[in-house]
Amino acid sequence: MGTPGAGKGTQAKLLASRFGACHVSTGDLLREAARGGSQLGLEAKRSMEQGRLVPDEVVIDLVAERLDAADCQGGFLLDGFPRTVAQAQALDALLVRRGQPLDAVLLIALPREDALQRLAGRRVCERCGTMFHTSFDPPARPDRCDRCGGPLVQRADDREETVRHRMEVYARETAPVLEHYRAAGLLREIDGTGSREDVFRRVATSV
Ligand code: AMP
Repeated sequence: MGTPGAGKGTQAKLLASRFGACHVSTGDLLREAARGGSQLGLEAKRSMEQGRLVPDEVVIDLVAERLDAADCQGGFLLDGFPRTVAQAQALDALLVRRGQPLDAVLLIALPREDALQRLAGRRVCERCGTMFHTSFDPPARPDRCDRCGGPLVQRADDREETVRHRMEVYARETAPVLEHYRAAGLLREIDGTGSREDVFRRVATSV
């Protein structure tokens, strides 16, 4: 859990690979659906580009289907889900049915100004999805991916106007989810400032 720009995706990938768990990012699943061009994908794309949440039923179904995959049977790490109390309740019910309770909920806490700076400089490779940052992790050649040479672009929802809206949606819809998990005794708060490695050290010792 954490605001847009807190570093959830980066830390989730590192943590999933350390523990051999599958990494379930609803943002990635929705972007994949959008690229596929289905009706559902195109509707999701519109919501994402405007910084709005995709309907609860859509993401809940995506997560339920993803958790059935073979690579998730040894454990999973959810990234960017649940984002509403209704999603958290649906997840609780799903995990009871699966007999797979959550071990922990990690909140990466980062001051708003730092998160805004990270989002403004974030660039992603259009071809392979690798992330860069214009100041903190710049590519060797401007606007070209170090890994595959593909073009680097700014995510449509990382533009300033949309980011402001995403922050409001977080405060209104997602912050109450933290209380849901605090009450369940699962929430662990991690200082999200510093380098990717600094934060990962804190994340790894908290689980
Ligand atoms: P992310 O990559 O996690 O920042 O997600 C990008 C966008 O995908 C969000 O701004 C939402 O529009 C949509 N999205 C991702 N996860 C969810 C979710 N759990 N519920 C609703 N919308 C989501």
